[in-house]
Amino acid sequence: MCGIIGYVGSKSAKEEILDGLKMLEYRGYDSAGICCFEKGKFSLIKKKGKVATLVEACQGQLKDVHCGIGHTRWATHGDPSDKNAHPFLSENNSVAIVHNGIIENFEVLKGSLQKQGVRFRSDTDSEVIAQLLQKSKCESELKKVQELSTLLKGSYAIAILFKGLENQIFAIRKNSPLIVGKSKDGFYLSSDVNALVDKTDEYHIMEENEIIWIDNNDCYAFDEHLQAKEIVYNKMNLTKQDISRGAFEHYMLKEIMQVPNAIKNTIQECDAVINPYMKLPREMIKELRHITIIGCGTAYNAGLTASHYAREREILVDCVYASEYRYRKFLPIENEICIFISQSGETADTIEALKIAKEHSIPTIVVTNVASSTLNKLADFIIPTKAGPEIAVASTKAYNAQITALYGLMDYIYCIKHKLNCRSCILKDKLDDVVKKLEHYSFKKVNELADIIKESERVFYIGRGVDYATSQEASLKLKEISNIHSESLYAGELKHGTLALIDEHTTVIAIATQKSLFDKTLNSIYEIKARGARVILVTQFEVDIEAVDMLIDLPCTDQAIMAEIAIYPMQMLAYKTAVLKGLDPDKPRNLAKSVTVE
Ligand code: GLU
Repeated sequence: MCGIIGYVGSKSAKEEILDGLKMLEYRGYDSAGICCFEKGKFSLIKKKGKVATLVEACQGQLKDVHCGIGHTRWATHGDPSDKNAHPFLSENNSVAIVHNGIIENFEVLKGSLQKQGVRFRSDTDSEVIAQLLQKSKCESELKKVQELSTLLKGSYAIAILFKGLENQIFAIRKNSPLIVGKSKDGFYLSSDVNALVDKTDEYHIMEENEIIWIDNNDCYAFDEHLQAKEIVYNKMNLTKQDISRGAFEHYMLKEIMQVPNAIKNTIQECDAVINPYMKLPREMIKELRHITIIGCGTAYNAGLTASHYAREREILVDCVYASEYRYRKFLPIENEICIFISQSGETADTIEALKIAKEHSIPTIVVTNVASSTLNKLADFIIPTKAGPEIAVASTKAYNAQITALYGLMDYIYCIKHKLNCRSCILKDKLDDVVKKLEHYSFKKVNELADIIKESERVFYIGRGVDYATSQEASLKLKEISNIHSESLYAGELKHGTLALIDEHTTVIAIATQKSLFDKTLNSIYEIKARGARVILVTQFEVDIEAVDMLIDLPCTDQAIMAEIAIYPMQMLAYKTAVLKGLDPDKPRNLAKSVTVE
């Protein structure tokens, strides 16, 4: 959440920063702003709304600038407005900052600064950072930045300009990501690697509590005690093509079309001779009694889907939302492991949940899509997904990649526990079949359905067993991007309450891919139809079409992994519905990707 960008170098800081903000916009689009050194002074432009509004406001401005910082905001404290947009200047305009995260003790700090007569210009938590730096009595700027870490509670990635230190940027981070990019034309700061593609050949991922000082043509790193550190640079291996929309109208559409590839690439990784599962200690797996899967949103739903697969393999799994796990009373379970799922590997709740598991010495495995992420750094073991960069806010291909990686993991655990030769090729063959079927999937019916449900006020999704997990994810997609109220329910639970809401204005989408549960779900469908609702059935089984208003038929594959197929038309349904409603599916209202705040 929130995108930060900084640039010092020979190119136009205005162009570099605006380019970067466009790439970071998926992280927030409540407001955007830029502050550059211009003839020894700060020039600040910030606007409510999307980056395009800022770009317009910058026309003809900031002509000869070579150092600056920029920000695209996802508001946590203070409404989206010009005055709450970053960057913030301190009261006497001697410091400029941008911030990603939440300063949890900002009220106390703000109160004490106000008592000293400092006047604030915004309602945000972030502004306090600029004012603290202005008031600091430390003798050097570096020490002022270091002092922040003793004053601020919460999460932060901060980029700072000090008046008088033209062509210098300072940065510090804790629990929010920040990356340094190095090129022949200068240095960059960025919230993620994507914004640096085509700009830099090398990047450095700032460590927790690290301080960075970019001084015109060099960059220095320090630890929290201001001891100099060596900067480790990684080679940039992403290309412009990986992160551009290409010929697609939206990122989300591109990413749905990439689902088959995401599955294929993930299974290839998991099927390699030295695969990530083999790094898990055999003893740990043999003695394993219980798995807790932790995630948020789509990642949680991927865990829920995989938990059904695990149960069939006699592996006991519970799924918990990270935001609940971190605050609930901790109870030890003997021989437990925890699996943390996050596309970005930067999800704040999931990171904090992982820290709790580590405090209790529980082995931790992460399933992430970004090798350089914070979760990867913190975890004991890593199972990578190979979905490629996912930019649309609503996750699609990463979900399929996550369940693919988890299927492989559950098979591996089952084989070790039962002293079987683990032959991942069996799963690989089944998933190859899924990939082929998805590549040839026709969305004709989905388009017709989108045209119908675009008018709906509410849509329910129902399912039993693993189909409930799929319906959770399908419902989340629709509500994320189409602004239609949607819920998912266990089909058997309808009669215990929700049936009261079913009438002729309701659409119910029933997902039924499990033979043993099919007739039971059909019973629920009849109950719904009797109340006048429109029923859509999503299944691979032959069905009497009279029983339902529309059939979304699925290609057949091994029932255990049907979730990979069943979600596909549902992802597209959400996308098409949003587009038909004239909404931008890549930038849904109130949401942003990579949820780095609590
Ligand atoms: N807390 C800051 C604000 O509301 C930054 C939010 C974020 O990083 O998402 O402006």
